[in-house]
Amino acid sequence: MEAKRYLSVEEKIGEAQALYEAWADRLYGDAGICELLGRLERNIRKSTAAMRSLRVDRACRRCEEEEGGSCCGAGIENYYDPLQLLINLLLHVHLPDRRSFPDSCHFLEAGGCCLKARHVLCVNYLCSKLQQSLSREDVNALQGIVGEELETGFALHEAVRKKVGPAAGHR
Ligand code: SF4
Ligand code: SF4
Repeated sequence: MEAKRYLSVEEKIGEAQALYEAWADRLYGDAGICELLGRLERNIRKSTAAMRSLRVDRACRRCEEEEGGSCCGAGIENYYDPLQLLINLLLHVHLPDRRSFPDSCHFLEAGGCCLKARHVLCVNYLCSKLQQSLSREDVNALQGIVGEELETGFALHEAVRKKVGPAAGHR
C-alpha cells in the first residue's frame, strides 16, 4: 500500500491560492459566508482587545524580544489545511512564501502572527506562565471570548468546505 503523502505548507498555500482564484467570487457572493466572515472579524477584534487588556500581548512580545523567542515553533503551520488558509485569503491576509525565522512557525513574522483565522491550538493556548499570572476569573472570561471566535471559525470552515468540496479540507 502506498504511504499517504502530506502536503508541505508551501503546497497548502499554493492550493489555497488556487481555490481562492477559482472560488472567491462565489464565496463572497454567498450571504451566509459573508455574514460569518464579518462575525469572525468582530470576534477576532474582541479577542485581541481582551488579550491586550490582560497584557497577554505584552508578555508574548517580551518572550519574542527578550527571552529567546515565542512559543510559535516550527511545525505548528502543519496543523493548517488549505481551507483554513483560504479563509485567511478571504479575510485579505497575505500568506508568506517563505518563513521569516528558521526555527519558528511559517506564519510568524516580525510583527507577530500574520494570520487572522487561526487554528484552535493557536487561539486557545495559554502557557503556564500566563495561567499563573492571570486570575481564574480572567482566564474564564478570556476562554469565553476566544470560544466565540473558535465557534465562528468552525462554522465558517464548515460552510466553505460544503461549498468548495470536502476533498479540499483534509490534507
Ligand atoms: S504564550 Fe507564553 S510562552 Fe508563548 S509567547 Fe506568550 S508568554 Fe511566551
Ligand atoms: S499563532 Fe500564528 S505564528 Fe504562532 S504558531 Fe499559530 S499560526 Fe504560527
